[in-house]
Amino acid sequence: MNETIYDAVVIGGGPSGSTAATDLALAGHSVLLIERGGRIKPCGGAIPPRLLADFDIPQSLLVAKARSARMIAPSGRAVDMPVGEIGYVGMVDRDEYDEWLRERARHSGAERLTATFEKIERDDEAHPIVTFRRSRGGPIERVRARVVIGADGARSAVAKQCLPGAERVPCVFAYHEIIKAPPKNTEQFDASRCDVFYQGRLSPDFYAWVFPHGETASIGVGSANKGFSLRGAIATMRDDLGLERCETLRREGAPIPLKPLKRWDNGADVIVAGDAAGVVAPASGEGIYYAMAGGRMVGEAAAAFLRTGEAKHLRSARKAFMKEHGRVFWVLGMMQYFWYSSDKRRERFVTMCDDKDVQELTWQAYMHKKLVRAKPMAHVKIFLKDTAHLLGLSPATR
Ligand SMILES: Cc1cc2nc3c(=O)[nH]c(=O)nc-3n(C[C@H](O)[C@H](O)[C@H](O)COP(=O)(O)OP(=O)(O)OC[C@H]3O[C@@H](n4cnc5c(N)ncnc54)[C@H](O)[C@@H]3O)c2cc1C
Repeated sequence: MNETIYDAVVIGGGPSGSTAATDLALAGHSVLLIERGGRIKPCGGAIPPRLLADFDIPQSLLVAKARSARMIAPSGRAVDMPVGEIGYVGMVDRDEYDEWLRERARHSGAERLTATFEKIERDDEAHPIVTFRRSRGGPIERVRARVVIGADGARSAVAKQCLPGAERVPCVFAYHEIIKAPPKNTEQFDASRCDVFYQGRLSPDFYAWVFPHGETASIGVGSANKGFSLRGAIATMRDDLGLERCETLRREGAPIPLKPLKRWDNGADVIVAGDAAGVVAPASGEGIYYAMAGGRMVGEAAAAFLRTGEAKHLRSARKAFMKEHGRVFWVLGMMQYFWYSSDKRRERFVTMCDDKDVQELTWQAYMHKKLVRAKPMAHVKIFLKDTAHLLGLSPATR
């Protein structure tokens, strides 16, 4: 047993854990960041400009910038949504990005440890013990923490052990293939565009994508339908898009949780963040920004707890997160429920994306992570159009 008592032991060095570790270390706390390593997080790597601004991320970590999105309907109809001059969708490679975040945590004063978390134990002392192994089959080691932050991703072992109901978070399973990008743009592939396929044959309940990453590209798909072949869908897509001959560099998949846990803390000394807390945006599956935003709020709540010793402060993280992003999550949840349920609705959804007001508000909401209030009439117009499309009353969809 290591005799040091860390203020915080953070389990998982992805975007949420590294952010919490950095912030706590910068605030003067002793922090141990435990990351098992050895695996690149499967991820499309798309991030909004606000993330770079909020979390001081250098542009040099972007491997590509997409300037438009192409939405493709079941009929094959494609609607292009240019971001406009002011914006872009940034693309990061998660091996480089996550390592940069972990190193920033170390430079900020956190201690880094490559090890796999096992469990949280308790004895007669006040503070919990975190157990881990540095190698498979290696000895179990122990360290004590005033607060434990579980940032160990979807299906988090920390959440399962400490938070009732955590194992029942609904998930979409996402799978992607990283390919060498075609050397030149083609009719079907553009290195400055994200393609999003809303087609039941490719995903019965979510969507499929092609995201450009400079030298490479991510071709992926998500679905909660366990019987659906995600690999089959990607093979079909690559055939359709003429990408079947591009070299495949990696094939990988992982669950995406789509509902925030009702409680992020155990009321005493453990709190979860990011995917471990279920905070990925419904409909889009966007999780990196929310993991970092949540990680920051969890860091603040942990700091308040360390300052006062009062466990009630841990609760403030979820409250702050839902205050800031709960409404967007609710709207996106409704969108997924309505628009992703049949090809007829998907067709209407893509038709709706042709509307300039919809495009502008979608990009504003994506880039700034806020429902923009500056144009209330545009919201009303969109609501009416949305409803007309949903009910099949719009001439464009008849
Ligand atoms: C295929 C796919 C595509 C996606 N595309 C996008 C996208 O384009 N844009 C976007 O914003 N989001 C995307 N997401 C979601 C996004 O990847 C996640 O929401 C985000 O990574 C969550 O960050 P996190 O830090 O909470 O968890 P993670 O990034 O999962 O990090 C958890 C960390 O904990 C470590 N860990 C786990 N268990 C242990 C253990 N026992 N001991 C020690 N360490 C452990 C892991 O190694 C990992 O580094 C995608 C997800 C998938 C699966």
